[in-house]
Amino acid sequence: MRIIGSIKQMSEFSQKIKCKGRTLGFVPTMGALHEGHLSLIRQARKENNTVVVSIFVNPIQFGPGEDFKKYPRMLKQDAKLCNEEGVDIVFHPTANGLYPSDYKTYVTVEGLSDCLCGKYRAGHFKGVATVVTKLFNIVSPDIAYFGQKDAQQSIIIKKMAEDLNIPIKIKVMPTVREKDGLAISSRNSYLNEKEKKDAGVLPRSLNLAKDLIRNGTRDSAKIIHSMRQLIQSKKTAQIDYISIVDSVTLKPIKKITDNCLIALAVWIGKTRLIDNILVKQWKN
Ligand code: AMP
Repeated sequence: MRIIGSIKQMSEFSQKIKCKGRTLGFVPTMGALHEGHLSLIRQARKENNTVVVSIFVNPIQFGPGEDFKKYPRMLKQDAKLCNEEGVDIVFHPTANGLYPSDYKTYVTVEGLSDCLCGKYRAGHFKGVATVVTKLFNIVSPDIAYFGQKDAQQSIIIKKMAEDLNIPIKIKVMPTVREKDGLAISSRNSYLNEKEKKDAGVLPRSLNLAKDLIRNGTRDSAKIIHSMRQLIQSKKTAQIDYISIVDSVTLKPIKKITDNCLIALAVWIGKTRLIDNILVKQWKN
């Protein structure tokens, strides 16, 4: 396995792979790798000749006052995990390399970026769409792997690839969870013991939504109300949003259908966590 920091070297490597007719799978990450990331890497390993994992904490997707500075960085450990998973290249560009001082170009996916998390994290998805476009252009993968855990991100990237005629297949892999159901996240490391226990209310609220739907409830407002009550039973929890939306357009849906995405963002203490379920993945 090689660790490449240079954008030029990364592009040259990808072009060589392509010339040989070999397929390239790509997993973009911000590092602090965990089982969620590893599930994407394993899928990429299964489906491609060559696997590239990028590790880059993207400054332009963090707002002022967000956790850019304290975001966990552990390249050595990440590289070890990648090596164990049979990754070929860890691409670890610098912020100056990707955004030199005269940098001017940004990608915005309109209509999908200002709702849900976008409402609370202004500019976040512009930062995500921009860095992913740049990484796609540098790495030129055949298939790129994203996690369902960041549902809005995956939806935005799919739309961006479609709209900009980016010839890369986007695959979205299921959310990997802890034993108690908590979605695994690099940010879980910010939680203390009590908060980690309290955070279990997030997957429980999504399970409650599933139970209500299974038992015939179709009114989104009712489901959201029940989820809200359950989450608010934890004193450490502060809800940003609980929304039921169309899983392609992200427009709110009043009556549950198979195309619904039930998504939430909740602060547990000083840590903002997100989670979601897709109704069509478990109904029937
Ligand atoms: P991040 O490093 O948080 O930017 O995540 C990199 C990729 O891993 C994104 O596509 C995430 O959606 C995905 N990911 C993060 N956590 C999980 C998880 N628990 N299960 C599945 N995918 C995940």
